[in-house]
Amino acid sequence: MTAAPSALPDQFDTIRQGIPPTVTLVAVTKFLPVETIRAAYARGIRHFGESRVQEAITKQADLADLPDITWHLIGHLQTNKARKAVEHFDWIHSVDSLKLAERLDQAAMELDRTPQCCLQVKLVPDPPKYGIDVAELGAALPQFDQLAHLKICGLMTIPPQGASAATIQEVFTGAQALAGTINQAGFNRLHIDQLSLGMSGDYPQAIACGATMVRLGTVLFGPRPSSPALGSGN
Ligand SMILES: *Cc1c(COP(=O)(O)O)cnc(C)c1O
Repeated sequence: MTAAPSALPDQFDTIRQGIPPTVTLVAVTKFLPVETIRAAYARGIRHFGESRVQEAITKQADLADLPDITWHLIGHLQTNKARKAVEHFDWIHSVDSLKLAERLDQAAMELDRTPQCCLQVKLVPDPPKYGIDVAELGAALPQFDQLAHLKICGLMTIPPQGASAATIQEVFTGAQALAGTINQAGFNRLHIDQLSLGMSGDYPQAIACGATMVRLGTVLFGPRPSSPALGSGN
């Protein structure tokens, strides 16, 4: 006998209840079918994270009867999909270059939307990962501050694959400190009050370091397939 596709693992509620109410739980449903999103929605989840624009658009069409979902884009975004991302997401956690931010700002102006954005930063060297390193970010902050159609209010970071607990701690506390530095610089628009820090393997540590958003997939839903459940191309 196989479980119905919409069944959520037993640990779902336990994990959820362990997240403080002040922390936004973004349920990461990339590669998972819409039935899983419906099941999580039925348990009260309203924030969903997807890593690919096209996969999310397909799912959103299917879920159009659920009007109060907040959609979060958490995966790397190519500049040529900036417009679609602005159209289809409330939050973009993966703003990893000034060029991308400028494209998003332009699209937001044209579409009359104001997406909430996190700057994806690299606090320790991590060549395979997307993200803006701290020196580069420092130099570009005045330009990010000019982007009137984005609400840049968060930092997002992902520790390197296989990082030690000490490195994870360094990354998370580094993000928190960087937010403080940005806020003290007195920009016009830029004000960081969101830290999107934890994933399944490290979210308790992230919460201890001041995360306001955690992005959880595996720990809520079990292991996911290695490719999208539907749709193709991205
Ligand atoms: C897939 C993904 C997650 C969720 O990962 P889990 O380890 O399954 O919790 C969180 N953040 C980003 C950016 C992701 O791509």
